Amino acid sequence: MVSFVTRSACPICGAASEKILIDMALTETPVATYLKSYYGGTIPELTGGRYILAQCLCCGSLFQHEILDDTGMDLLYEQWIRTEGSFQKKFAAPLPVRIGYARQCAQIIRAVPRPPHEIRVLDFGMGWGTWLLMARAFGMQVEGLELSPSRVEYAQRNGLKVVTSADIQPEAYHFINAEQVFEHLPEPHEALKSCYQWLKPGGILRIAVPDGAKVVQRIESGNWTISEMPTMPLEHINTFTPSSLRFFARQNGFTVIHPPLVLPAFGLNTAEIRQFLGVLAVDIASRLRLYKTTVVWLQKPNAG
Ligand SMILES: [Zn+2]
Repeated sequence: MVSFVTRSACPICGAASEKILIDMALTETPVATYLKSYYGGTIPELTGGRYILAQCLCCGSLFQHEILDDTGMDLLYEQWIRTEGSFQKKFAAPLPVRIGYARQCAQIIRAVPRPPHEIRVLDFGMGWGTWLLMARAFGMQVEGLELSPSRVEYAQRNGLKVVTSADIQPEAYHFINAEQVFEHLPEPHEALKSCYQWLKPGGILRIAVPDGAKVVQRIESGNWTISEMPTMPLEHINTFTPSSLRFFARQNGFTVIHPPLVLPAFGLNTAEIRQFLGVLAVDIASRLRLYKTTVVWLQKPNAG
């Protein structure tokens, strides 16, 4: 039997003032239909659970009030999401995804004032370890944190060092990557505090999450479907906007910095080059303060 846990305050900033945007039972249409189609019938009937989406009136983030308990989360990530499908999807990722990883590794080496083999990197929520394998190929010292046993086992078979949060010493890393992780965490605030502690002074945390900037407007205008929104039931239990993500970071002692400008890499076809020039254009526009995304580089202050 799956149980639910209620989060009554904003899990991002802790404020208790909120506006409820959606409130329906998980057995009700359209959530029930979405769950059946998304998980392809591996999911049981979630009687008693509700999809309650709230907007925090203090920080502007969105969050789900009811989330699965630890047992439910284990079932969700190991059984309802079929690991086989997740693995295939990751390894069949189109070329630009891997070129993107390589570009990020080049940015890390530009940003951290040390030779690559002295740079210690943690992938927080490493999944199957694909990003870490790239970072290792760039010569960095890499470690991954991951809860899913099947993913941990796969990464270890690839010779990656997997750590638990209890193993990590304070000020251990120059760089922490958290790609599509913070939207899944029951306690994102605790996770951010841990990342801060694990970084060396001057260390950098990269957070990338789905952009929820248009969610409220879409719900209020009635122009939304569950599958098209970043606030997916059960999984995306926290949703940030570009502003709320920056607020979250600053509130916890980080400075938002610009990642080094790195050109698109080789090996791309014309359409993919256009796509990468788009990525570069976003980096430049963000430097000029013309545009904000939910991908941020955050720096822990230097000591003294
Ligand atoms: Zn908040």
